[in-house]
Amino acid sequence: MSRSAQIIAVAGARPQFIKAAPLCAALTTAGLTVRILHTGQHFDAGMSDIFFAELNLPAPVWNLACGGGTHGAMTGAMLAGIEKVLLEEKPDMVVVFGDTNSTLAGALAAAKLHIPVAHVEAGLRSRNRLMPEELNRICTDHLSDLLFCSSEAGRELLAKEGILGGVHVTGDVMADVFFDALAKVRQLPLPRESRRALLTLHRAENTDDPVRLQNIFAALEQSALPVVFPVHPRTLRALGALNLAPPANVRCTEPAGYAEFVALLDACSVILTDSGGVQKEALWAGKPCITLRDETEWPETTACGWNTVTGADTAAILAAFAKPSPSSRPPALYGDGKASQRIAEIIAAMV
Ligand code: UDP
Repeated sequence: MSRSAQIIAVAGARPQFIKAAPLCAALTTAGLTVRILHTGQHFDAGMSDIFFAELNLPAPVWNLACGGGTHGAMTGAMLAGIEKVLLEEKPDMVVVFGDTNSTLAGALAAAKLHIPVAHVEAGLRSRNRLMPEELNRICTDHLSDLLFCSSEAGRELLAKEGILGGVHVTGDVMADVFFDALAKVRQLPLPRESRRALLTLHRAENTDDPVRLQNIFAALEQSALPVVFPVHPRTLRALGALNLAPPANVRCTEPAGYAEFVALLDACSVILTDSGGVQKEALWAGKPCITLRDETEWPETTACGWNTVTGADTAAILAAFAKPSPSSRPPALYGDGKASQRIAEIIAAMV
């Protein structure tokens, strides 16, 4: 029997496990063998293991345990570890997701070994080169052979950078898991739509800046809304180091598992976040989103009025709280929940 095409999916951070889950299932259905190389960027059970268990993601075959240090040290260690695996395994393709150091290391290691690279969530830009994620995205897109975009805007953006070949607008793989999880949550008898907020914070621009953190907390305190805040480990460390605590109306919890987070999101009346993925999920759930950053990679969410980019400006956050939600439902953006299937078919045709 001929060997089925071998795919290695490189993942290391929470959103990548969520993106990998539907795609690995679809690649397997398409007859390909897919194995996960975990870089170890996120290693806590609540940031990693829980997503493998909840989303039926096959256990990683390799774990490089590269979970700390400076960006250069971490990316360099990943690069060496991934290269070793790729030299031994000689896969037919490497798949990378999003914009973390794991994404860049996976793409660079594979490209240098002339192994085709597929980038899931290609063609996004914040235009803010101070963000490590922005540098990772730019490099990864330019290293990739297949580039899967969540919307037409991604294709247009890549074309402006001279990337024309291998670009496919497939929709967003996060939608594939999110719609399923939301449908399950909505069957549960949970209280919804009471006035309460859900907060996530983990971008370096916020966690490393006490003034920004204080401004955000001041807005939350003045809003007097009950706020649930599943705290990312990086944020927990930063708050400890800065000796800062959220105000009393903010209830801090451990990072939530996926189903739990979707339930929290569906149960709140407004979301405040600096996450990329959560901005999309807010829109899909029909919840107004306040983005605690100075720009967004998801401009379609702001154009339709459901997402307001406030930065860490207390007055702007309070104004966004006071703004009424758009009168019409959010538009259907970023796909129909079948992105993984489309991507798997394109990959299967290439390997
Ligand atoms: N998420 C989760 N538990 C949490 C916070 C977020 O499961 O406590 C999920 C969320 O539903 C989304 C993803 O994690 O699918 C977003 O990841 P994150 O915000 O860490 O990264 P980003 O999207 O900014 O790259």
